[in-house]
Amino acid sequence: MKDARAIVFCGVHFMAETADILSSDAQSVILPNMAAGCSMADMASIDEAQDCWDDIQSVLEGEGKVIPITYMNSTAAIKALCGRNGGLVCTSSNADSAFKWAYERGEKVLFLPDQHLGRNTALKMGIPEADMALWNPFKPMGGLTPEQIRRARVILWQGHCSVHTRFTTKQIDAARKDNADVNIIVHPECTRDVVQAADYVGSTEYIQNMIRKAPAGTVWGVGTEVNMVSRMAKENPDKTIFCLDPVVCPCATMYRIHPAYVLWVLEGLVAGLMINRIEVPAETKAQAKVALDRMLEIGG
Ligand code: SF4
Repeated sequence: MKDARAIVFCGVHFMAETADILSSDAQSVILPNMAAGCSMADMASIDEAQDCWDDIQSVLEGEGKVIPITYMNSTAAIKALCGRNGGLVCTSSNADSAFKWAYERGEKVLFLPDQHLGRNTALKMGIPEADMALWNPFKPMGGLTPEQIRRARVILWQGHCSVHTRFTTKQIDAARKDNADVNIIVHPECTRDVVQAADYVGSTEYIQNMIRKAPAGTVWGVGTEVNMVSRMAKENPDKTIFCLDPVVCPCATMYRIHPAYVLWVLEGLVAGLMINRIEVPAETKAQAKVALDRMLEIGG
């Protein structure tokens, strides 16, 4: 991989940006379809996030150090904001460690862009909801009073995953009614009440491992992206696995890399053309890498 001149990234835009940040200057990253994105990542623009950061600093006037944490599902510019302000990136697997890291260095966390992962992680760490504030980027000062900002230990950006917020406690109740032995397992991008009603909560990797290791014959109601659930059902034919949402909910933007796009960019490379190159500006790249390196240091 280190020798590859071009990396054709069959994923979403923010991941391709991350590949560009972490790869060498001699390598180019290509995203076969520029429309492959993440609606959650798009909910935090750098201008809005920078305004939020500046507003919070102006209220706090140096009292109570804020550590910004961004979920991996965010633009390179948001990662850079975290990097240059003493913060880091996290995934759904290491969000707990990122919070711990942050509280060793500051008094408050600004968590972007997924309010649910931020809230669920903070609750898991014993921080009550009364100590959290929700920043609405469409309102002046996030819709918060200076007092709310000063009091908050966690400020959550008002973003969400449009797929994971479709899961409800009603679906969990229905699954339990159908089968009293069902195991409910959900992703932490789900809302707090869904997470609290589930038997198990964790990242996609955690969900896959739990189901893979489970005894044959067990039943699993899963709260994550439906294509992922279908794949797990195929890989584990000895178990009953179903998506909690009866109305199928694929991610509208995640599955936009069709073979034809891959062929198009590969043919371009053969012809000496670099189609759909993802190029993160040098300064953003350097600052985002700081935030990514801090995440890599804390591990999983
Ligand atoms: S499921 Fe789609 S919208 Fe949700 S976090 Fe993943 S890529 Fe983003």
